[in-house]
Amino acid sequence: MAKYSNQKNKIVEEEIAEAAQEIKNGNLVLFPTETVYGIGANALDEVAVKKIFKAKGRAGDNPLIVHVSNIEMVENIVKEITNVERKLIEKFWPGPLTIIFDRKSEKIIPNAVTANLNTVGIRMPSNKIAKELIEKSGVPIAAPSANVSGRPSGTKVEDIIEELQDKVSYILDGGSSDIGLESTVIRVNNNQINILRPGKITKEELEEVIKDVNVDTHVLGKVQKNEIVTSPGMKYRHYAPNTKCMMVYSKNKEKMINKINEITNDINKEGKKVLVLGEKSNLDKYISQKKWNIGENLNEIAKNIFTLLRKVDKEKVDLVIIEGVGEEGLGLAITNRLIRACEYNYIVL
Ligand code: AMP
Ligand code: MG
Repeated sequence: MAKYSNQKNKIVEEEIAEAAQEIKNGNLVLFPTETVYGIGANALDEVAVKKIFKAKGRAGDNPLIVHVSNIEMVENIVKEITNVERKLIEKFWPGPLTIIFDRKSEKIIPNAVTANLNTVGIRMPSNKIAKELIEKSGVPIAAPSANVSGRPSGTKVEDIIEELQDKVSYILDGGSSDIGLESTVIRVNNNQINILRPGKITKEELEEVIKDVNVDTHVLGKVQKNEIVTSPGMKYRHYAPNTKCMMVYSKNKEKMINKINEITNDINKEGKKVLVLGEKSNLDKYISQKKWNIGENLNEIAKNIFTLLRKVDKEKVDLVIIEGVGEEGLGLAITNRLIRACEYNYIVL
């Protein structure tokens, strides 16, 4: 059983030092970041990193993001930092942007971290506890989202403690994640940014650094069997509850609400139950008996979505219908998570 920090949001220096000691000893620590919780190990210790894959049941070909607390750590790991990458670092770090670099040598960052790729994804978190944990450990920390693979990512300790407490040595409870969605993952090629996974840092914000920003086709498109993808994480079932889910979206709100009611009606006729997840102001227009507020704006929706997806199975309904949010700004990241949670079962009108 893991040692647990005493008080939410009031983690003391000694607790971070104890957790850092676990990292140095080659053990796993559950810790908060501004995006989602991470399950971390010393990124330079192959044996420790392999424990993460075992704890999560994560596919060995899905690489981990390395978290750093200063630029020297990056320089130690990567071949070079280009001018564009430096500009991005200046603007967005510390923060929710992961940059894929060419790695220097497998002797520094082990193959287990990069899943044998010659690239490595790195980010510098802004969360104070995460930063101090890395600093006190004195090593970069490899950490994927804290959840058993396939499940929604953990954005508060209560949501994930059951599935992970026996698998880590220390739990640092920093309260709810500020953002609630994972980092934006990018690769820079010849002065073009390719978004491999959308996140809090939006396409529009990246375009302020370089105009040429491309969204990888797999961000919204389905990966075909045996298809080779730039970011292996795109291939896997992700964020999905056990209950069947469906996303419905239209720019025209009325159309969206009518469609959701139409589907609800059809399902009810079969004697089955529906749960609708929608914006608060839309909820009284739904005929479904069960309906949950998903949030009032994109930031709120991002923050709530994983916790809500984790709760839907308890409702024992036959179908969860979720309002889509479009692709603008943070909407792209939310849509990317929703269509995976729905296993590509969605309608756009
Ligand atoms: P997670 O930490 O579970 O949120 O997942 C990390 C994401 O970053 C996955 O989608 C990975 O495929 C992606 N990623 C990490 N390292 C690399 C890399 N070297 N090249 C491409 N994608 C990466
Ligand atoms: Mg994940």
